[in-house]
Amino acid sequence: MKKVLAVILVIILCNIVYAGKGLDWHKNVNFGMHFDLHANMGDTELGAKITHDNLKASLELIKPDWIQCDCKGHPGVTSWSTEIGTKSPGIVNDALRIHADVCKELNIPLVMHYSGVWDEAAVKKHPQWEVVSASGKPYGGAMRSTCPLSGYLDELMIPQMLELIDKYDVDGFWVDGDCWAVQFCYCDRCKSEFKKRTNLDAPTDANDSNWNKWVDFQRTLFLERVAKYTKAVHDRKLSCLVTSNWLYTFGSPIEETVDTDYISGDLSSMYGLKSAMLEGHFLVNRNKEWDLMTWGFTNNNNDGSGYTAKTVNQLKQECAYITACGGASMIYDTPQRNGILTKWHCENYGEVSKFIKDREAARGFESVPQIAIIHSPQDFFYNAKYSIITLDSNNNVFKRTIGALESLLENHYHADVLMPSMIKNKYKNYKLIVINEQYYFDEAFVNNIKEYVKDGGKVLITGVYCPNTFSDLLGVTGKDVAYNDFFVEAGKEATSFKAPYRNIELTTAKTFRYTMYQQNIGENETNIPIITYNNYGNGVVCGVYFDIFTQYVNELYPRNRVLVKEIVDKLDCDFILKDVVAPSYVHFILRERDNKLIINLMNTGSISSGLERPIMIDNIPTVKEIKFKVKLDKRPSKVEYLPTKNNIKYVYKDGFLNVTINDFEILENLVIYE
Ligand SMILES: [Zn+2]
Repeated sequence: MKKVLAVILVIILCNIVYAGKGLDWHKNVNFGMHFDLHANMGDTELGAKITHDNLKASLELIKPDWIQCDCKGHPGVTSWSTEIGTKSPGIVNDALRIHADVCKELNIPLVMHYSGVWDEAAVKKHPQWEVVSASGKPYGGAMRSTCPLSGYLDELMIPQMLELIDKYDVDGFWVDGDCWAVQFCYCDRCKSEFKKRTNLDAPTDANDSNWNKWVDFQRTLFLERVAKYTKAVHDRKLSCLVTSNWLYTFGSPIEETVDTDYISGDLSSMYGLKSAMLEGHFLVNRNKEWDLMTWGFTNNNNDGSGYTAKTVNQLKQECAYITACGGASMIYDTPQRNGILTKWHCENYGEVSKFIKDREAARGFESVPQIAIIHSPQDFFYNAKYSIITLDSNNNVFKRTIGALESLLENHYHADVLMPSMIKNKYKNYKLIVINEQYYFDEAFVNNIKEYVKDGGKVLITGVYCPNTFSDLLGVTGKDVAYNDFFVEAGKEATSFKAPYRNIELTTAKTFRYTMYQQNIGENETNIPIITYNNYGNGVVCGVYFDIFTQYVNELYPRNRVLVKEIVDKLDCDFILKDVVAPSYVHFILRERDNKLIINLMNTGSISSGLERPIMIDNIPTVKEIKFKVKLDKRPSKVEYLPTKNNIKYVYKDGFLNVTINDFEILENLVIYE
C-alpha cells in the first residue's frame, strides 16, 4: 500500500512539475506568427480551403515557436461554431479545429486572437452593454466598446473563453481591442458605481478638479475586468496564458497589478522599427515576460487600404530589434478568407524565423543600467483624455521619449526608458538620469533624484518649464518664455532650433552654451544661457531650457545629435562602452545575465526609394569597420560573436576589451563571459 501511495505521489509531483513547465511556455519561444481574420457577417467561405495538410505544410515552411489564430475579432462574430455568442454566417469548415490539431501534432502552443472590450455584435444584440458618452448616447464611430459593468464579461466573454479551452484545449489568449478600446463610460451603472466609490458625480471636463479620480476609476474598472477574465482562464487551465494587447507597454505606464502572464503589442504598421525601439527599451525593465508583433504588411495611404507585404529585409530588421532587446518577436499575416496562407509569404517568414532563431542568444537578458530616461505616469495622465493607454504617436509623450532615446542610441550610448517605480532603489546603478520635457512627478521621485545627485549622480533635465520643479538642482531661476528662433554651437558648427525657450537667471549654475543669433562660433553668441551645468552635492545637473528631444524627432537634424553628445560627454559619465567608431544608425544594446555581458549590435540603417519618410525598406546598408572599447574589470574568460563567429578581432588591454568588427548586416550578438 505504501508503495502504491509512493507511486501515486511521484505521478502527482511529476504532473505539478510538468504543469510548471507548461506555464512557462512563453519563456521558451523566440519567434511566432499571428493570423487573424476579424470574421464578419459578410464572410461566405471561412475555413473552406484550409486542411490539416496545407496548414501543416505552411507552418513547416515558417517553423514558428507558437502561433495565434483567428477566433473572434472586432466585429464580435466567431469564425468557429460557438454555442454562446454570435457566429459568422460564413463558416464552411471549423478552421480552429484544424489549427488546434496541427499545433498539437507540431507541439507548438496555440493562442486565440480574441477581441475583448471591442465587440460590435455584442452591443448590437445587447444595446445596454455599449459604453455611453457624456451626452448619454453611444460614442458612434467604428469602434463599438462594451461597458465594464455590463453583462458582457460574465455572460459572453468569460463563458466563450472557457468554451474555447474546453473544446480546443487552447494555450493562450491574446486579447485584442481591449485596453486601447476603453472609452469613458457614463452609463447609469458606471455613474452610480463612481458615486458609491468616491461620493462624487462623474465629471465631464478634463479641467474639473475631480477629473483624475474619474480617470483612476475608469482605469480600475478596466483592470478589474482583465483580472476577472485572467483568473477565470487560469482556473480552467493553468498553462493557458493570457495577455491583453498593449497593456503595460510604454503608452500604458501603470503598475503591473493584474495577473496577466506576459506583455504584448502589435507595433505601428508603418514605423515598426521605431515602435520596436521605444517598446523594447521600456519593456525590458517590466517584471513580466514580453513579446512584440510586427505587421507583415504596410501601406502608404494612411487609410487602411492598399496593403503590401513588407520585404524580408524589413521584417528581419524589425524582428531583430525586438530580439536585440531580449523579447520574442511575432509577424502578423492575414490568411485568405478561406483559411489558405499565401505560400510566398510563408517562405519569406521562414527566412525571418531562421534569422531570429540564429540569434536566440539575445533572448531574455536584463538591461545593463547606463542611462535611464524617465517616463512619469503623473505627467502622462495629467488631465488625460485616456484612462489606461494612448497609442497616439503624435502625442508629445511619444515624441519627447523617442527623441531622447534615439538621439542617445545614435550617439552609441545605451539607454532604457523607465517609470520611477521601475528604478526603485537602483538609482545608484545608473550613470545618468534623463528627465526630458515633463513636469508632473510623484514627490518621492523628486526627493530620490536629489539624493541621487547629492551622492554623486549625474542628471540631464530638459524642457521649457524644467526650472519650475528643479530650480535648486539646476542652480537657476526660471523667467519668461521667449519665442525667437536661435542657433546653438554643435561641434565646430552650429545647429538651429525653432522652439520656445525659457529665459533663466543663474544662481549657482555655469553656462555651457549661449544662444546664437547667427552661426559664426565665437562671434555670434548672445548673453542668453540656453544650456547650463550645476554642481550639487557630489553630483552634476545639466539643464537645457527648451524641448531639445521633441525637436530632435520633429527635425532629425544631425547637428542636434552632435549637440546631445557634447552635453552628455561634458557630464563625464562612467559608461561601459568607450571610443565607439560606428555609423549613427548602429545601436549598441547592452544586456547582462549569469556573469555574461552581451552587446547587441543593431543596424537600423536603410536604403529606400525617395519617400520623405520611407515606409518600405528595400535594402539595408552593410556596416563596415566598427571599433569600440568595453570596460571590464578583468580579462574575459571567453568571447563569442554570434551567429557569424568570425569577422571580429579583439584584444584585452589595460582594463578594456578593444573590439574591431570588419562588417555586419543587421544584428550580431557579442557575448563576453566574466
Ligand atoms: Zn458603463
